[in-house]
Amino acid sequence: MADYSREIERRRTFAIISHPDAGKTTLTEKFLLYGGVLNQAGSVKGKATARHAVSDWMEIEKQRGISVTSSVLQFLYDGYCINILDTPGHQDFSEDTYRTLMAADSAVMVIDGGKGVEAQTRKLFKVCAMRHIPIFTFINKLDRDARDTFDLVDEIEKELGIPTCPVNWPIGSGKNFRGVYDRNTRRVLTFRDTLKGTKEGIEEEIDLNDPHLLDVITEDQKAQLEEEIELLDGASVEFDQSKVDKGELSPVFFGSALTNFGVETFLQHFLKMTSSPLPRMADCGLINPADPDFSAFVFKIQANMNKNHRDRIAFMRICSGKFDADKEVYHVQGDRKMRLLQPQQMMADDRHVVSEAYAGDIIGVFDPGLFSIGDTVCAPGKKFRFEGIPTFAPEHFARVALLDSMKRKQFVKGIEQIAQEGAIQIFRENSGGMEEIIVGVVGVLQFDVLKFRLENEYNVDIRLDMLPYEYIRWIVNKDEVDLDHLVGTSDMKKVVDMKGNPLLLFVNSWSVGMVLDRNEGLQLEEFSRN
Ligand code: GDP
Repeated sequence: MADYSREIERRRTFAIISHPDAGKTTLTEKFLLYGGVLNQAGSVKGKATARHAVSDWMEIEKQRGISVTSSVLQFLYDGYCINILDTPGHQDFSEDTYRTLMAADSAVMVIDGGKGVEAQTRKLFKVCAMRHIPIFTFINKLDRDARDTFDLVDEIEKELGIPTCPVNWPIGSGKNFRGVYDRNTRRVLTFRDTLKGTKEGIEEEIDLNDPHLLDVITEDQKAQLEEEIELLDGASVEFDQSKVDKGELSPVFFGSALTNFGVETFLQHFLKMTSSPLPRMADCGLINPADPDFSAFVFKIQANMNKNHRDRIAFMRICSGKFDADKEVYHVQGDRKMRLLQPQQMMADDRHVVSEAYAGDIIGVFDPGLFSIGDTVCAPGKKFRFEGIPTFAPEHFARVALLDSMKRKQFVKGIEQIAQEGAIQIFRENSGGMEEIIVGVVGVLQFDVLKFRLENEYNVDIRLDMLPYEYIRWIVNKDEVDLDHLVGTSDMKKVVDMKGNPLLLFVNSWSVGMVLDRNEGLQLEEFSRN
């Protein structure tokens, strides 16, 4: 017992988020380099999947095997057992990222120092903020000309609405980049371009008052640094671990992932500042990671693209206790005891079967179609459900027309299974007794994936007719509202989701406000919590 609480204690499970191209993959590779997993950074498999052009989506599908292995990476560093949850780069798969974040205890947000906060950063940040998980900022690419440091930090605070606390501070950028100043030790970590980062960096630390520092930085740079430190000490929020824990303060670090500068110091600070696996909310209260009974929830389901094996892998985050492959577990939503089949863990490019794993770990299990996203598995004799995974608002909608009406059964089966994986959302509309099916997706690429998969896996041809809706609102107080007498707008459509919850679709955002004005007491929400 004592043993395994130590195992849990040393675990760190986090996701790395970024706008595409900010350097998420490069940073991950450098982490693995320090973890001794890679001899030479740059060989993490699965990278190919992030870089595909839209027209290549079928290739992405064919390479599912690769993206599976890149879903979670586990490695050891300095006594810690680290689980990095990888998130797909392409924005059309951002819903997948959202769900992955549900499995993380903290997040690292990578920002391109030349660009600052970008569209996808904002979106992903919003999800992290909803969960109140600690968020650490790594401002990357300082080896290239970066924007003014104060501006960058200011932008994060203003645009994302989170106070920041720079742990270190850069000296110059681009060809004038000389290193970072550690505000705590008052020492400068000097920058050397270490063979484009293929080696663990040779970094020298020099005290701010050491005359030797002037061999590395110019007098002007030193004067500017001192001025900036003074400004910073006077103006910025003080480091407060309890605020970091609640996601109310983001520690900020600077570096260059490509040249492997500032990465290890970031990793070291981050591991100390982030927490071991956090308790998780269930309908019976908080479930503690050190609880001796095993529990986990499904956060991601990935279909197997092998035609002969139409099975799937369900990814679970272990929330408490120890997973023992020889023991039965109880699947709450399915109300059945079962053995989890072929439990696997991923380490860099290697997938292996595991016989045990601990709270904080992610395992992928063979899923013959039993699991849905958000399902709970726990020790037999227990029966509770973890908080659901919110369904995110689709932004694109299409009506699905089945081309061969004789295939309705396969069609319904296929579309429901694909929806179960969470790639699409299905809505039903009753128009004059005829039931219409509307599909909503977060990224348009998912439409192509849906069409392709229905044809190939279920032998069903469909046509998708695009609809102009962009805004979706679930009705929160559905029991209090008389849906038949709702005063709508001309662009509004009433539909129900798979679980029968009513919701409204709108073409314009101002119509949302109008409908709220016209129907007193109506409560609308962008996410479904059911
Ligand atoms: P991702 O899309 O966020 O995973 O970004 P990648 O890690 O693939 O990086 C995108 C591009 O930026 C690649 O060409 C990287 O080599 C480059 N890159 C990443 N980090 C740095 C850095 O610190 N400095 C420079 N100059 N380029 C970088």
